[in-house]
Amino acid sequence: MKNIRGHHLFCMALFTGHGYSEEFTENMASVISALKAGEPLRLASGPDDICAACPNLLADGGCAHGTEDVRHRDQGAFTVLGAAPGGELTWQQVRARLLEIDEGQFETVCSNCRWAAEGLCSLALLQKQLG
Ligand code: SF4
Repeated sequence: MKNIRGHHLFCMALFTGHGYSEEFTENMASVISALKAGEPLRLASGPDDICAACPNLLADGGCAHGTEDVRHRDQGAFTVLGAAPGGELTWQQVRARLLEIDEGQFETVCSNCRWAAEGLCSLALLQKQLG
């Protein structure tokens, strides 16, 4: 069982090998591979199995990129996907829900993110990656 915070469902679906460090990208790829192989996930609203290998994770469990900002994105993801912390999902269920979202819902979670600003994330790319 992987612990995954809400907004990381979007990050994983859009992941193409970019990240904050080599350890981060290796872990991200490993977690995604496990989920796609059928390991279930439990939704979290704090540090998760992706944060565990991230250089931005702070000692108090916060995020150097803005603890409130990432929590707000988690909450947005739960709202958009009709999910809640503690809920258990398979990657196939996540994929099906992500393929139903519209531009406004995508923006609820991903607007003003550094990766979107670098052109690595958009609703069109999300749908292409999941297709
Ligand atoms: S610590 Fe912050 S930047 Fe790193 S994976 Fe977690 S939410 Fe993302």
